[in-house]
Amino acid sequence: MKNQNLYEKLAKLAVRMGVHVQKDQPLLVRANVRDVEFVRMVSKEAYEVGASDVIVDWSDEELSRHKFQYQSLERLKDIPDWLHDKHKYLQDKGICSLAVVSDCPGGLKDLDQEKISAYSRAFSEKMDDLMDYQMKNIGQWSIVALPSQDWAELVFPNLSPEEAYSALEKAIFSASRVDEQSNPEQNWLEHDARLTAYAKKMTDYQFTKLHFTSELGTDLEVGLVDGNIWEGGGTDSFFGIHFEPNIPTEEVFSMPHKDRVNGIVYASKPLSYSGKVIENFWFRFENGKVVEYGAEKEKEALDKLVNFDEGSSHLGEVALVPYNSPISQSGILYFNTLFDENAACHLALGRAYPENIQGGLTDEEESLKKRGMNTSLVHVDFMFGTKGMDVDGIQRDGTVVPVFRKGSFVIGE
Ligand code: ZN
Ligand code: ZN
Repeated sequence: MKNQNLYEKLAKLAVRMGVHVQKDQPLLVRANVRDVEFVRMVSKEAYEVGASDVIVDWSDEELSRHKFQYQSLERLKDIPDWLHDKHKYLQDKGICSLAVVSDCPGGLKDLDQEKISAYSRAFSEKMDDLMDYQMKNIGQWSIVALPSQDWAELVFPNLSPEEAYSALEKAIFSASRVDEQSNPEQNWLEHDARLTAYAKKMTDYQFTKLHFTSELGTDLEVGLVDGNIWEGGGTDSFFGIHFEPNIPTEEVFSMPHKDRVNGIVYASKPLSYSGKVIENFWFRFENGKVVEYGAEKEKEALDKLVNFDEGSSHLGEVALVPYNSPISQSGILYFNTLFDENAACHLALGRAYPENIQGGLTDEEESLKKRGMNTSLVHVDFMFGTKGMDVDGIQRDGTVVPVFRKGSFVIGE
């Protein structure tokens, strides 16, 4: 394996800081069969820090294709009890989980989209009672990315296959703050501290809303819930274990009020959703709800998203990412949310993160909904940040505080 040393550093980072596996805790790894060498490194590392068990859920794109091609809609929608019970069992054992992503975005786009979205809806409904475990950070979880040939060629269509692969590999390691010279764990401690400081500042202000404008025509007011909490960098699990949900991460994010979003927002990057790449799209919001939208490409995929359920036409996340973040500066479009969302300010349609509101991890869902928390079976991020983005924070008494100027934080500078 080329660059074995970097992969080992990434595996170590994923286990020790990403999921932060505890002694006697089981680890679930989700990975594609192409990444078996990396998963072996993860497994070894996890046992070395004391994991009680390492369980791997393997996937393969060809096998997924067969499922959607050959199975009937009825069969696909029938999610077996054992699958639910397996995850219930693992949660009862206090599992933590690591997702290793390397699939090419949009890889299933030529398949019957009706079947894919029916399956994902049935799956979400079946697993509904298990969703809190991750959403409320009861067990630690993390995502890391690895290159794959198809993905590399999508991102770098003008390079030779070998060059494309190395370019994506290099970009992923650099965005993940893993290199030959330095200690990735030290890099992440420092990075985490910076993000945490911005998040604290934003929380301290308790803005009632943020006003976004950009050179693309975005003019959007995003109301925030009372008692909004901004998060950035790592987070603490319900049991107080610090972990890094996303490697990489550059965002500082909070909870919009589901009924207090008004104006228009233009996306600044394509969105890969349900196997399609949606381009040049926009939404107009009234009292929190998408009332009008359009896209130059793949508008049907957008129809599916907006109409998925009641919550999918309302916002569940607002995130600030400086335009000068390393991923943004690389200028690479990955067609993958884990990276692209860290290149630009973004919003998410659908489910909110309960950690972004005071009492979110302890209060009843009904009372949180009354305070403006959005719920949905989906959570889909889209990027709208630009080089020229300005953001103002508005306090309860009407005071306007500049938060972003020309795409970067100015708050507390
Ligand atoms: Zn985000
Ligand atoms: Zn998100």
